[in-house]
Amino acid sequence: MSRSGSCLCGSVSLRLEGDPIRSLKCYCTECQKLTGSDHLQALWVKQDQLTVTGELLKVVRVGESGNTVENYFCKNCLNRVYGLAPKTRVAIVPIPLLDDISGLEPTMAIYTSSAMPWTQVSDTLKCYEKMPGSK
Ligand SMILES: [Zn+2]
Ligand SMILES: [Zn+2]
Repeated sequence: MSRSGSCLCGSVSLRLEGDPIRSLKCYCTECQKLTGSDHLQALWVKQDQLTVTGELLKVVRVGESGNTVENYFCKNCLNRVYGLAPKTRVAIVPIPLLDDISGLEPTMAIYTSSAMPWTQVSDTLKCYEKMPGSK
């Protein structure tokens, strides 16, 4: 199964092949800044499952884990289209960019230790204080 999506202005389009590795909510401070909200709802997919077309702005930084994280933004509207962990070749795709979100409900919550004090972290999801595997 494949799904399509686009950035805020529509200049960048994306196509996702197959099922995501996982669907999650991330409460880390980086996602809070990126979204302007209390968490990001995202899919983790293998890099080769994702095809992105359009002009992108690439921003590279070192994440909380110490590993390099690449973020790709639409050059026109500066909406973040996806993030990439080059070491693991896992891409992070924000769920709201997809046209059809059916069947993509998040099943876990990560970095719950960074959640805003007034955020109600779901108690129906599997929760991790940081990354799955780190605790
Ligand atoms: Zn755009
Ligand atoms: Zn995050």
